[in-house]
Amino acid sequence: MQENISLKKHHTFGISVNAAKFVVFRTEKDLLDFVPVQEPFMLLGGGSNVLFTRDFEGLVAHNKIKGIEVLRENDSEVIIRVGGGEVWHDLVMWCIDKDFAGIENLSLIPGSVGAAPIQNIGAYGVELKDVFYSLEAICLKTGDFIKFNHEDCQFGYRDSVFKRELRGKFCITRVLLKLNKIPVFNTSYGIIKDILEESKEEISIRSLSNAVIKIRKQKLPDPAEIGNSGSFFKNPVISLTQFSNLKIQFPDMPFYPVGEKEVKLAAGWLIDDLGWKGYRKGDAGVHVNQALVLVNYGNAKGTEIWNLAKAIQTSVLDKYGVALETEVNVL
Ligand SMILES: Cc1cc2nc3c(=O)[nH]c(=O)nc-3n(C[C@H](O)[C@H](O)[C@H](O)COP(=O)(O)OP(=O)(O)OC[C@H]3O[C@@H](n4cnc5c(N)ncnc54)[C@H](O)[C@@H]3O)c2cc1C
Repeated sequence: MQENISLKKHHTFGISVNAAKFVVFRTEKDLLDFVPVQEPFMLLGGGSNVLFTRDFEGLVAHNKIKGIEVLRENDSEVIIRVGGGEVWHDLVMWCIDKDFAGIENLSLIPGSVGAAPIQNIGAYGVELKDVFYSLEAICLKTGDFIKFNHEDCQFGYRDSVFKRELRGKFCITRVLLKLNKIPVFNTSYGIIKDILEESKEEISIRSLSNAVIKIRKQKLPDPAEIGNSGSFFKNPVISLTQFSNLKIQFPDMPFYPVGEKEVKLAAGWLIDDLGWKGYRKGDAGVHVNQALVLVNYGNAKGTEIWNLAKAIQTSVLDKYGVALETEVNVL
């Protein structure tokens, strides 16, 4: 247990804040030493989906539960069980080395395996829920070990029960994934096809992963260089009726149908259209190439980033009547 620890290096926004207490746990048993947890308490994985707006006046527990094991397999499928403290991208690379397909499109997403189900991480046409089998968690009040199957997690777009009713109530200690030995390639995003064609590589889970890594490196700021948490806002999903009205006023607005009654809008387009891209005040800004990514150029305070986020939300609501929800957990 360490006291008064800087969290700057423990999260990707790189904001200068302190935690009153900080502890690393490497096993389920270690974690149980703090259960029932005293408030305030927070779990931290890679810190790639949090914005701290103030010092944390309690205990931050950093998950380092490791281990990847094959639980069972047949000729076509394999079930693996992974420690929540494993780094997500390292797991993707491990699967590619073993020829286990299913998460190659999720290459280079920062963060830990334990946090991946919380917002049902997704990229390039694939979401965690597509390969999710079950997870093991510890109740932070009682210390009970609970298993959650697919249905229990109530996955949605960047969403799960752990972001809603069960927020802050469980520590996800292990995640089980069902992967394919016979790959089904998802190249539904045109840019992936373009990169594969350009590279002249035959399609494989490795070449697909390489293409995704290349695109992400070109598109997204590296947190090691500029503090950020990836997409700050979720793409808003609105009713078909609201969309039909908007489309008359803004015919260029991109959209993606969701079922028969809803439409997903591109939050980045809305923010860009309002002229926010490249905006900077002090060290808080909107990335020059990615309107959806808020950045810390060095010494921004969490409150400055948060005030900028709120100003963007207000301007999007005023112009389009659309409420932008944050994807990042603001503390
Ligand atoms: C450059 C960049 C690109 C990104 N791209 C994507 C993308 O393409 N798709 C995408 O979906 N996300 C993306 N993200 C967001 C982020 O990578 C994911 O949300 C990731 O799953 C967060 O993992 P983490 O370990 O860093 O979580 P943290 O930031 O450490 O924690 C996030 C939340 O989960 C809680 N938590 C953490 N671990 C546990 C646990 N074991 N049990 C219970 N609660 C826990 C924390 O208390 C916090 O509330 C990106 C982020 C960055 C910086």
